[in-house]
Amino acid sequence: MQSTLVLIKPDGVKRQLTGAILARIEAKGYVVADLKLVQPDRALLEEHYEEHQGKPFFEPLVEFMLSGPSVAIRLEGDRVIEGFRSLAGTTDPTTAAPGTIRGDLGRDWGLKVQQNLVHGSDSEESAARELALWFA
Ligand code: ATP
Repeated sequence: MQSTLVLIKPDGVKRQLTGAILARIEAKGYVVADLKLVQPDRALLEEHYEEHQGKPFFEPLVEFMLSGPSVAIRLEGDRVIEGFRSLAGTTDPTTAAPGTIRGDLGRDWGLKVQQNLVHGSDSEESAARELALWFA
């Protein structure tokens, strides 16, 4: 059994897709072990995205994540880290495969790739670190 951090990002919350995204996650059999609406501050986001500091999209990404609340979810299940990322689809919603959350529900808002509805931890180490940050 694994745990991962899933975020429904501000675009997903604003577009009222929280229920639709949770339905896909639960239909797959993953268990929502904890869930809350969070308005993150800059310090939390800079730690969360520390691997991207210095990249050109870092500041727009942080600004986007500050633009409204996200839904933070502690998700549990067998191989849920890999499984949720597969369910989410690739980073760019325009080219994410149909059948995935980003592929079916993501919109192409110009070049704003950061508005891709969801986040999922990418390894056990990231999941432990990110869960400690968002569910401190
Ligand atoms: P996540 O970690 O959020 O689940 P990911 O693993 O698909 O997504 P990463 O490469 O870790 O993507 O990037 C983290 C986030 O940064 C992406 O989800 C996206 O919001 C944003 N991002 C990544 N690359 C770009 C880019 N080239 N332009 C704008 N935003 C980007």
